[in-house]
Amino acid sequence: MKPMSRSRTFKSKITLVVMATSGAALLMAILALLVDEYVSHREDAARRLRIIARIVATQSSAAVLFKDSRAAEEILSSLRAEQELVSAAIYSIDGQLFVRYLRPDAGLEGLPPRPERPGSGFRGGNFEMFEPILVDQKVVGTFYLKSDLRQLRARLAWNLGIALCVLTGAALIAVSLASRLLKRVTRPIQNLEQLANTVTVQRDYAVRARQESDDEVGRLVHAFNEMLAQIQLRDDALRKAQGELEERVQARTVALQNALRELESFTYTISHDLRAPLRAMSGFSRALLEDYGTHLDPGGREFAVRISTAAKKMDSLILDLLDYSRLTRQEVKIERVDLEPLAGDVLRLLEPEIRERRATITLERPLPAVLGHALTLSQALTNLIANAIKFVAPGVDPVIRIRAARRDSLVRIEVEDNGIGIAPEYHERIFRIFERLNPTETFPGTGIGLAIVRRAMERMGGRSGVESELGRGSRFWMELPVAPEAPPTNPPP
Ligand code: ADP
Repeated sequence: MKPMSRSRTFKSKITLVVMATSGAALLMAILALLVDEYVSHREDAARRLRIIARIVATQSSAAVLFKDSRAAEEILSSLRAEQELVSAAIYSIDGQLFVRYLRPDAGLEGLPPRPERPGSGFRGGNFEMFEPILVDQKVVGTFYLKSDLRQLRARLAWNLGIALCVLTGAALIAVSLASRLLKRVTRPIQNLEQLANTVTVQRDYAVRARQESDDEVGRLVHAFNEMLAQIQLRDDALRKAQGELEERVQARTVALQNALRELESFTYTISHDLRAPLRAMSGFSRALLEDYGTHLDPGGREFAVRISTAAKKMDSLILDLLDYSRLTRQEVKIERVDLEPLAGDVLRLLEPEIRERRATITLERPLPAVLGHALTLSQALTNLIANAIKFVAPGVDPVIRIRAARRDSLVRIEVEDNGIGIAPEYHERIFRIFERLNPTETFPGTGIGLAIVRRAMERMGGRSGVESELGRGSRFWMELPVAPEAPPTNPPP
């Protein structure tokens, strides 16, 4: 049997089942009735024909005995009233056909040439009978009749028609009744389905289905409600836990921020306060060299030089640290910054180093305006250009290009150099504080410059990064939102 379509509704499936079972039962009943009708009618017809045969045989005995064919024919012609009778005949004692009767539509071939042994039965859908004609218990001839049971067939066809009408009518009534009655059965299930959809879409676990009965469906509704109640309990608990967790995270974040602020202010104070003794160390070591240099032997002078160099190094480290910590503490007000004047200022500031290292710097104009903080951005750009001047192989003159290109709503500022380059595995690491890839003797530095660039970009809502390969130069970049067009300034009257 073909399986029912999975997408059929519950109601249509039940209707189909009801229709199929009741239809099958009705069909069986009608078939049984028709078979019973056929069998009993056939028997009735056979019984009646046997009686007729006996009567005709009795009536025609004298005519057969005296070979009175006219009288015999008259008797046979009385059979005309029997419409089912196809043919009838009387055979004489020597087996010769004496008289016959043929229905107008019957042919002669229907008559047997000779009488057979007395008896009756159905042959090829027809009833046939041979009845002996007796006079004083002695056989003087044989009567034969054949009936096609035409009425029985007509009646069967009629009954079949009626049965089909009844079947169709019953099916229609069953469908309409089933659909009405099934509404009551399927409504709670449909309600349940709607509720399940609502729960899934709106995630509202407080809703409940109405239990209308105590049958299986009612128990299903009850179980569904129980399930919802449990989910609701867990959902509430989860929400509560989530709320508490958020509060705890919030409190920890605040505590961490406070601790960080304290630490930064501590660093700032310490760094600031450290500079005074450092200055003293630097000043006195210089004075020692200038005023008492002649009294010192070469070893003593060397120590004094080392003290002075170390003090200078520490001073620049402290200055960088102060810059870095100021970046976190100071307010960064985002506004429109024109890159061209800003880059010009930075290059002027770096002029002594540029000249000293014989660097060639190209500024690709025009440069667009960005949204940022001028001081912070110029600090970051200074660090990138200073690095580009610094990190070149010995004997190579630095060649640097500065450009800025718009990418959708962002501006990417690039500083490209012909320096020593950076291996890809260090591209992220170098932006962390105190991360350096080269010894201080070859390339002096504090390891804070790029950390300042990263922090500066974060504070302005931008990003920073590098594209580079070892020995093939580097391209450092910073991305900031593009500044909206400046409103046109009114020309003076
Ligand atoms: P510093 O310059 O004080 O060493 P930075 O934070 O500016 O510290 O840089 C970190 C490290 O990244 C440098 O020590 C250097 O190894 C590498 N670096 C930075 N800029 C460049 C560059 N333009 N070319 C090659 N390496 C660079």
